[in-house]
Amino acid sequence: MAGMSLRLESIYRRYGKVMAVNDLSLELPAGKFITLLGPSGCGKTTTLNLIAGLDQADGGSIHMGERDITRVPPNERGMAIVFQNYALYPHMSVFDNIAFGLRLQRRPKPEIQSRVRHTAELLAIEHLLDRRPGQLSGGQQQRVALGRAMVKKPAVFLLDEPFSNLDAALRARMRTEVKHLHQTLGTTSVFVTHDQEEAMTLSDLIAVMRDGKLVQYGTQHEVYGKPRDMYVATFLGKPRMSLIEGSLERHAAGVVFTAPDVRLELGTAESIGLRDGEWPRVAAGLRAEDVSLGAPGGLSFDAQVALLEPIGSDTFVELEVGGATVVARVPPEDPVAVGDRVTAVIKPGRVHLFDLDSTERIV
Ligand code: ATP
Repeated sequence: MAGMSLRLESIYRRYGKVMAVNDLSLELPAGKFITLLGPSGCGKTTTLNLIAGLDQADGGSIHMGERDITRVPPNERGMAIVFQNYALYPHMSVFDNIAFGLRLQRRPKPEIQSRVRHTAELLAIEHLLDRRPGQLSGGQQQRVALGRAMVKKPAVFLLDEPFSNLDAALRARMRTEVKHLHQTLGTTSVFVTHDQEEAMTLSDLIAVMRDGKLVQYGTQHEVYGKPRDMYVATFLGKPRMSLIEGSLERHAAGVVFTAPDVRLELGTAESIGLRDGEWPRVAAGLRAEDVSLGAPGGLSFDAQVALLEPIGSDTFVELEVGGATVVARVPPEDPVAVGDRVTAVIKPGRVHLFDLDSTERIV
C-alpha cells in the first residue's frame, strides 16, 4: 500500500539545556524513502520519536497527509517503528511476535494467519515461525522486527538505526533487502542513521542534520554533488572530500584558485556560476573520483604520493601538495608507489569552492 506524506513544521524539542531538535521543518513525500543523517547526538532519534508520537514536541506541528497529528497518540498514527535493538518479545515465537500487533487490533484469526505467512514469505523467514528470538541470528531477528512492523501495513514506516547491531556483510545485505521491500510496498519510510553510505544507497531523500537543525535536504545526487557547506561536503563520501585552503583571484581571463604549489584556472566567473563577492579565505574541495593521475595541463598540479590504499576495484592514492592532502582514485593496475612525483588531474567542473570563514559553498 502506498504511504502517507508527512510534514514537520518548525519542530522544537528541548531537554534541559539541550536543544535536541531546533526549528526543524521537513516535507516527506508519500511513498519516498527519507533518511535522517547526522553524527551521534544531532537529534535524529528525537525527530523520529516525535514523528512516532513517542515524545512530544515543545513547539511546532506534524501533519500526516492533511491531518494534524501533533497530539494524536502513537497507536492512532498508522505508523510502525523498528528499533536498533529489535525489541522482540523473547518468550514468544516468531509467529506470535509478528502477529502481536494484529491480535491487539483483534483481527480475525484466518486474516492473522495469512498476513503473518505472507509477511514471513516476503522476508524469507517462513521456516523460522516456530522459533523464539533467542534461537535466531542477528540478521534473522532483524527480519522478524521488520516483519512485525510490516504486517500492520502502516502508512509510514520508521526505522531507527535498524542494522547497527549487524556485521558489515549482513548490514549490506539487509540494506539491499530493505530497498527491495520499499520498492515492493511503497510505504513512506523514515530511516535514521549516522552512516552516510547507508543513507546514500537507500534514500530517495536525505536530510542532513547537525545540532538539532536541518543543514541540507535533497536527493543523494544533490547533497553529494552540491553540498551546501563543508560539514555536508566532508560528512558524505568515502574517502572524505579533500580540502585545500587557498584564495581566489579574479583575472580578465577567469577565476583562479591558488594555494601553495597549486594553481587551478577554473574558467570565467559566469561559466562556473561564481557570483560577485569577496571571499578572503577559501577551500577547494575535491572528491577522490574527480582526481586521477596523468599528464600536466588543464586542471592539474604536481604532488607527491604519500600513501596507497588499494580497495580491489580501485586504489586510493593520498597525495601531498604544499602542506595539503588530496586523495585521488586510480585503477588498481596503475604503477604508482609511495614517494613518486606525479601530476594530479582534476575533472573539469568538479572543483567545489567553500568560504573558509562561514564554511558555506561558494560554487
Ligand atoms: P544517536 O545517533 O547517538 O542516537 P541522535 O542524533 O539520534 O544520536 P538524539 O538521540 O535525538 O540524537 O539526541 C539529541 C540530543 O538530545 C543529544 O544531545 C541527547 O543527549 C539529548 N537527549 C536525547 N534524549 C534525551 C532525554 N530523554 N533527556 C535528555 N537529553 C536527551
